[in-house]
Amino acid sequence: MTDYQAPVRQMRFTIEHLADFAEVATLPDFASVDGDTLSSVLEEAAKFAGNVLAPTNWLGDRQGVKVVDRAVQVPKEFKDAYVQFCEAGWPGIASNPEFGGQGLPKTVSLACDEMWAAANVAFALCPELSQGAILAMDRHATDELKQTYLEKLVSGQWAGTMCLTEPQAGSDLAALTSTAEPKGGRYLIRGQKIYITWGDHPMAENIIHLVLARLPDAPPGTKGISLFVVPKFKLNADGTPGERNDVFPVSVEHKMGIHASPTCVLAFGDEGGAEGYLVGKPNEGLAAMFTMMNYMRLGVGAQGVGLADRSYQKSVAYARERVQGRAPGEKGRVAIIRHPDVRRMLLLMRTLTQASRAICYYTASCLDRAAHGTDPEVVSRWQARADLMTPIAKAWCTEVAQEATELGVQVHGGMGYVEETGVAQFYRDARIASIYEGTNGIQAIDLVGRKLLRDGGATVSAFVTDMRSVDAPLANAGEDFAVVRAALSRALDELVQASTHLLTGEKRDPELVSAAAFDYMMLIGTVIGGWQLARGALVALEQLAAGGDRAFLETQLVMAKFYAEHVLPRCTAHTAAVRAGSASTMALAADHF
Ligand SMILES: Cc1cc2nc3c(=O)[nH]c(=O)nc-3n(C[C@H](O)[C@H](O)[C@H](O)COP(=O)(O)OP(=O)(O)OC[C@H]3O[C@@H](n4cnc5c(N)ncnc54)[C@H](O)[C@@H]3O)c2cc1C
Repeated sequence: MTDYQAPVRQMRFTIEHLADFAEVATLPDFASVDGDTLSSVLEEAAKFAGNVLAPTNWLGDRQGVKVVDRAVQVPKEFKDAYVQFCEAGWPGIASNPEFGGQGLPKTVSLACDEMWAAANVAFALCPELSQGAILAMDRHATDELKQTYLEKLVSGQWAGTMCLTEPQAGSDLAALTSTAEPKGGRYLIRGQKIYITWGDHPMAENIIHLVLARLPDAPPGTKGISLFVVPKFKLNADGTPGERNDVFPVSVEHKMGIHASPTCVLAFGDEGGAEGYLVGKPNEGLAAMFTMMNYMRLGVGAQGVGLADRSYQKSVAYARERVQGRAPGEKGRVAIIRHPDVRRMLLLMRTLTQASRAICYYTASCLDRAAHGTDPEVVSRWQARADLMTPIAKAWCTEVAQEATELGVQVHGGMGYVEETGVAQFYRDARIASIYEGTNGIQAIDLVGRKLLRDGGATVSAFVTDMRSVDAPLANAGEDFAVVRAALSRALDELVQASTHLLTGEKRDPELVSAAAFDYMMLIGTVIGGWQLARGALVALEQLAAGGDRAFLETQLVMAKFYAEHVLPRCTAHTAAVRAGSASTMALAADHF
């Protein structure tokens, strides 16, 4: 169960050639980041993921977590791993150097997030949430709050959480009812939050909850929500954790996967009120929380990539060992990797994983160029691209992670359904990624409503133009690339047709957006994945001509072709579904279901 080897070579290739690392490294904030930094970070992270985190994955799944005496207990091995994680400096690699972070680009740190998730996603959620909380506080909190909390969060000494969901307020946060009563420069928070990941645990000395609640007389809906920071332990005058604050875990959920990640019901203020501090402006908390949510959405996409990759690795190993059946032209029984249907499954897993990795890393590089650029016009262009990419990275990459991890079970045959091989755990662990951080349906509606329609299609159209620029190099690359060129060109045409249909169809069909959004999200993700694999193949062709590593580079060519022939044709079906609109989807009355 401990065998995870991060695909460092593939990650590095993706960062360098498909996430425009050279351009990111020219940004002034990243002046000290170069190819050597990239190599050493990836190699050290790979060792940590493989040697320290991966061995705790299976035992975490078996042992799970529990609440004893109003406190969550986690496996002892997790606590040990967390200490090592912090000692090695991993929590703060991409955080603001002003608070002790190393300030690396997201383009680099996201590859580490992928490795942590592949090695042990239940564990990885804890530092990931802390990073999201740090970013939200860094952008929106007062200097005083930043000075009080950020250094300890960046070092990992304290951990962060995200407290949005309530029983009646899931996708619809407008319905949340937790309250915040002003009292002597602070606030007393009261209410119940559910599903709070790592809502309580003994791994960090203090837990810093970011909580959404309503001030007295706040307007209803999303315009009346404020953001508060609520520490598990109130702080002494010297900043050390002191008296217990009034926030306690009531229970942990028994779940399908990520068993070692405590998913808590948290009670705030049952004994009078949990002390908290306002972050950002009153009633503007949801906008501030979006900083954390968007951070987490890309992180969840990377979780999908990691789990898909780990499942692929196990499946290849199994397919090489398992002997079953015969094959034309070969004597005796063969390993199942010899069978075309097994090859199909393995290549689907591999290409979907690489396409989703390239989508996530590219999104990170858009974010880096937006957050650290200097020319306002260029910054706003990258910000628009990052905003477009974020729901795609979250939703498409986690949808294909379901497919890849499900294929991992299938490659194993009956053994895939037996827990001890581990692939069932990857499948179960991946399932939540389509649900939390905003379900994929909600992501798709956000993509169409806010990222396509709001600017009249300008951002998508600019991206389509950029993607079409691979057509000429593909044409020059010769007959061998004709299939990739034709499939990508057709898929881009279909994306334009579907976008135009959505841009012009809402008046005719008011339910079009919600009915067609999921297919549109799958369509655009599939196209961007094809574009990235084609770019990878073009780079590989160049490097092959220069005498590079044949096996690795030829793999990039095969992946682009396989994806063009077996995955890009899905675009035709998604486009047809978008164009069909809502009529048949809504034809059945609710009581006829
Ligand atoms: C393991 C786990 C960990 C979690 N961690 C956290 C955490 O740390 N912090 C936190 O605050 N929350 C957390 N959550 C909550 C999670 O973000 C929500 O479960 C999720 O946003 C969906 O909300 P819901 O469960 O209420 O589903 P609902 O909102 O009830 O949705 C049910 C279905 O209806 C669909 N739907 C709902 N509204 C619409 C609409 N307007 N249009 C179209 N379709 C719609 C959804 O897509 C979904 O398919 C976690 C949940 C789980 C299970």
